[in-house]
Amino acid sequence: LYNIVQDLKGNIRVYCRIRPTFNAESKGVVDFIGEDGSLVIVDPAKPQRDPEKVFNFNNVYGPTATQEEVFKDVQPLIRSVMDGYNVCIFAYGQTGSGKTHTMCGPSGGSMKDRGMNYLALNDLFHISCKRKDVMGYDFHVQMVEIYNEQVRDLLAEDSSGTKYPFIRTCTSNGGLSLPDATMYPVTSTGDALNFMKLGEMNRVVSSTALNNQSSRSHSILTVHVQGKDKSGSILRSCLHLVDLAGSERVERSEVTGDRLKEAQHINKSLSCLGDVITALAQKNSHIPYRNSKLTQLLQDSLGGRAKTVMFAHVSPEADSYGETISTLKFARRVSSV
Ligand code: ADP
Ligand code: MG
Repeated sequence: LYNIVQDLKGNIRVYCRIRPTFNAESKGVVDFIGEDGSLVIVDPAKPQRDPEKVFNFNNVYGPTATQEEVFKDVQPLIRSVMDGYNVCIFAYGQTGSGKTHTMCGPSGGSMKDRGMNYLALNDLFHISCKRKDVMGYDFHVQMVEIYNEQVRDLLAEDSSGTKYPFIRTCTSNGGLSLPDATMYPVTSTGDALNFMKLGEMNRVVSSTALNNQSSRSHSILTVHVQGKDKSGSILRSCLHLVDLAGSERVERSEVTGDRLKEAQHINKSLSCLGDVITALAQKNSHIPYRNSKLTQLLQDSLGGRAKTVMFAHVSPEADSYGETISTLKFARRVSSV
C-alpha cells in the first residue's frame, strides 16, 4: 500500500529552494512563497506582477528552510528505494545557488546541516536495521563525474592502494548502470561518507589539473541496494544523488576555446536531461536518453517505475534575475504539477 500511495503522488517531483541572500540591503527577486508550492518572482527593473512569473512546484523552500525540512519531502522515496524502486535526485541551478549545499551541506563539511546525501544514506541504513529480521540488505557505492561528455571514476585508486585521481572512462551497457566504475561495499553511513570524501578529493585534484572548476561537471553518487528475504528472493535498486554542473548561460562572445566547449557540453546535457524528464512527464513513447552521457548513464533510473526528484535552486539577488527565470522555466517544463 505504501508504494501505491507513492505511485499516486507521481514519479516526477519538482521542488524549488531559495538560498539566503548575500545582499540584505536589496529586495531581491522573490515576491511571494505560498505554502501550496507557488512562487512569485518580480523583475527588479519593472516591479509589477506578471502572470508569467508565477510558478508552481510540489513545494518551495524559502531561505530559512532547514536541511531536515527539505529532506522530509525526499524521505518517502528513500523508503521506496528499500522496496526495490530506482530513484534519481538532481540538484539544478546556476553556480552559487546552493546545489552543493543541498546535496552535501555547507562547505568545510561541518557536522551540522549535512545534506541529502548524508541524510539519505543514514535513512537507508536505518531502515535496513529496522528490517533486519525479514530482509538482509547489502549496499555498494560508486561515484563518477561527467565532464565534457566523458565519464570519470572518482573512486579509482592505483594498484599500490594509494588514492589519486586515476581517471578512466566508463561506458554504460544499458543494464547495470556505470558497470566499469569502481564499486565499494559500505556497511554504515560513516563508511559511505569516507568514500564521498575520497570522491570529492579526486574531483578537486583532477579539476585543478585540468584547469576547470567542479561547477563545470556533473557529479553522481550512486548507492546500489540489494535486499534478500527469507525465501531467498532478491530485490535490487539504486539511488542516484546528482549535483549538476552550473546551469548559467555563457555568452558566446565572452568565452572561447575550452571554456566555450565546456559551456556547450553543459548546455547540451542539461537540455537533454530536461527533454528526457519532460518526455517522461508527458508519457511520450520516445524518450531521448541517448542524446547525452548523463541521461544514458541514468537511463534505468529515469522512467518506468523509477522516481525522479528535481531541486531547482534559486539565488535571490536582483542581479540573478535572468538566471532565476531560466532555472524556474526549466523546472516548470519538467514538472507535471
Ligand atoms: P552551488 O553548488 O550551486 O554552486 P553552493 O552550494 O556552493 O552553490 O552555495 C553557494 C554558497 O551559498 C555557499 O557558501 C553555501 O554555503 C551558501 N548556501 C547555499 N545555500 C544555502 C542555504 N540554504 N543556507 C545557507 N547557506 C547556503
Ligand atoms: Mg557546487
